[in-house]
Amino acid sequence: MSSKKKLLEGKVALITGAGRGIGRDFALAFANAGAKVLVNDLGGSTQGEGRDQIPAMEVAKEIEDMGGTASTNFDSVTSFSAAQNMVNQALSELGGLDIVINNAGILRDVIFHKMSEEDWDSVLSVHLKGSFNVSRASATVFRKNQAGSFIHMTSTSGLIGNFGQANYAAAKLGIVGLSKSIALDMSKFNVKSNCITPFAWSRMIGSIPINDEKSRERVEKLKTMSTDKIAPIAVALCSDQSQVTGQIFGVRNNEIFLMSQSRPLKSVHRSEGWTPESVLEHAIPSMKSEFYNLDRSADVFSWDPI
Ligand code: NAD
Repeated sequence: MSSKKKLLEGKVALITGAGRGIGRDFALAFANAGAKVLVNDLGGSTQGEGRDQIPAMEVAKEIEDMGGTASTNFDSVTSFSAAQNMVNQALSELGGLDIVINNAGILRDVIFHKMSEEDWDSVLSVHLKGSFNVSRASATVFRKNQAGSFIHMTSTSGLIGNFGQANYAAAKLGIVGLSKSIALDMSKFNVKSNCITPFAWSRMIGSIPINDEKSRERVEKLKTMSTDKIAPIAVALCSDQSQVTGQIFGVRNNEIFLMSQSRPLKSVHRSEGWTPESVLEHAIPSMKSEFYNLDRSADVFSWDPI
């Protein structure tokens, strides 16, 4: 056996939604890299209904079977106090907290004019509020340790666009703002915060409605992208060998992308100021060449996964 120190040796990772899909593969990869893992998963349906302790227990058992250390937590990230308990559990059962992966997620896809308040609230509370809850509870520990690493899962549904996902897109773009703000506020404590926008075949993607031949073809392509492909960059970003912070990375099969962040594209000015008429006559025509099309994620990621 190699005596080489593993990348995350001695670290403790709290991974939310780690009972299934991408989160499960994060848990296994982090354990494989030497980290002790607190496997959090509520075990609900893709829509966030019900509870089941088995997915998290199975992942913890897989980690233990391969010689690693894991604990389980079955609470919901939507609760501020439950998030605090997750952090306390990592400290008391695993001896510390160095890494937080905000991965738990649900979907309530529905076309915007039919979206209910409940569809909106439930998705925002798992993704955006949940990422805040777990990050905020961990921030106290990270500040005290003068070290720590956050990974937050975002999506091209927010970064680019998709039909029927106004709730999810808003939450996922909110997470980008949350991550950047944490990166700024906590850089003086040596804390890193990055986003990953994954593409992987999981039950969540399996719930995408197939309405036509085009979406059927797209889903067939998605099936070739396995969930374990997302973990290597997450492990790398959370290791002491990376100082990277405030970035958004995309991962799709064997491709890794650095995603853009908003900057001004073009400016126009008039020394006398603007009227609505001069905006219509001058500003809009002169900026028009830089306008974005109403692209969806699949329009931008238009080539087959590599
Ligand atoms: P998944 O449904 O397989 O896994 C999500 C897990 O989160 C489930 O095990 C679920 O029980 C758990 N969970 C849900 N609500 C929870 C809560 N309140 N508290 C604790 N756990 C909860 O989905 P996945 O595809 O593996 O998605 C993982 C993350 O990646 C999500 O944040 C998702 O939005 C994001 N994402 C995935 C894709 C993709 O292609 N699969 C694309 C973009 C973004």
